[in-house]
Amino acid sequence: MFKKVLIANRGEIALRVIRACKELDIETVAVYSEADRECLHVRFAADDVCVGRPPARDSYLNIPRIIAAAEITGADAIHPGYGFLAENAEFANTVRASNIAFIGPTAEQIGQMGDKAAARKLAQKLKVPTVPGSPGPVESMEEGLKVAQKLGFPVIIKAAAGGGGKGMRVAPDTEQFAQAFGLAKQEALAAFGSDEVYIEKYLSRPRHIEIQIMGDMHGKLMHLCERDCSVQRRHQKLIEEAPSPAVDVTLREDIGDAAVRLAQAIGYVGAGTVEFLLDEDGSFYFMEMNTRIQVEHPVTEMCTNFDLVKEQIRVAAGEPLSFVMNGHRLRGHAIECRVNAEDPARNFQPSPGTITAYHPPGGPGVRVDTHIYAGYTVPPYYDSLLAKVIVHGNTRAEALARMRQALDSFIIEGVTTTIPFLGRVLRHPDFIAGTVDTMFLEREPQLLKNPA
Ligand code: ADP
Repeated sequence: MFKKVLIANRGEIALRVIRACKELDIETVAVYSEADRECLHVRFAADDVCVGRPPARDSYLNIPRIIAAAEITGADAIHPGYGFLAENAEFANTVRASNIAFIGPTAEQIGQMGDKAAARKLAQKLKVPTVPGSPGPVESMEEGLKVAQKLGFPVIIKAAAGGGGKGMRVAPDTEQFAQAFGLAKQEALAAFGSDEVYIEKYLSRPRHIEIQIMGDMHGKLMHLCERDCSVQRRHQKLIEEAPSPAVDVTLREDIGDAAVRLAQAIGYVGAGTVEFLLDEDGSFYFMEMNTRIQVEHPVTEMCTNFDLVKEQIRVAAGEPLSFVMNGHRLRGHAIECRVNAEDPARNFQPSPGTITAYHPPGGPGVRVDTHIYAGYTVPPYYDSLLAKVIVHGNTRAEALARMRQALDSFIIEGVTTTIPFLGRVLRHPDFIAGTVDTMFLEREPQLLKNPA
């Protein structure tokens, strides 16, 4: 087992990894930017190293500095968390070339799945259904328009290197195709350094269903059922739950099998997520694979009682999987709400600032993963996630009631948060009925406004 793990991240996920390390009796190293001196991950880790100025490219994305921090402190492994360098093949390579274990897949596996156009091809080869679209990357506007006309509008143009909803544009018709194509390419180049794009048919009311995967170095690979992440804003997840109200036993088996086939084909080790779109007619389509732990992993933890982060660390150290899923059945129902420092009424504009009062919800089946505290100042440099509220109930109805009371008793003052907005979604008849799709918030803009 590892002796000392460096966590190349900040915020709640850094705390989450530190907790897992402590339970496994592993020492920890925090890295932090000049804006994060007062962060709890710095306080809770045994060792800490400042890696640079506040902008992420000068600190959390600075590979040589992070490697140097690991070498100085004698860390024998690095956990990347999510975001930042978690899906950076060059980072995974450099870590291993420096004789440090990378808690995640190989650089090749990150590369194979990081190119979404290539991942689509692999899925097709394995007879995993993909959304109808271009066979590969599309070079020119003219070629793209031909593909789009053949598929039928609307279509979505996606960056092959994409992630986090960036480099993605919907073209509703022929007239608006050229502009959407150009913007997607531009955005892709700016965000990922590559303007390669591909095209998919744009489904009108899909649900986002993803399968949690876990594999070890001894050839064992399993799935831990689905999460439903259909409540989204501009293709970004806001609320996640498991099991999905739209998935029955047969569908779970089919999607789970498809996900396992795909992960097995690349010999996947560690935690990963295979994402699908579920169409209204019950067809499902592979979208992409994320080769890291995800923000919403606690939803699966609450319904399986397995610690996915500890398991990631164990399998990276060469240990066999410590558990098996029993008949692919989830226990009860879990929901996660992402609490962000944003103002939904102002187009989700970030609202950094100092937290003046803080009191988290509690009670049976309530979990809060957060790094904030009263007096903490939310810096403007990073994503605006303040906390994740995760609840578990014996039934979906119990989980819903539990989440409503948890949100209502969550006190965060000093910054505008998404808590009141989340509370309104939790009370919407469509969410209660379990029938929402990814376009739900587009149809219900009044949910974004505070009632007068
Ligand atoms: P990213 O990697 O940037 O998160 P994804 O490919 O995972 O992008 O897509 C994110 C979200 O965008 C999906 O959850 C879904 O809401 C929407 N989306 C992507 N592809 C399509 C499609 N073909 N039709 C409809 N919605 C889509």
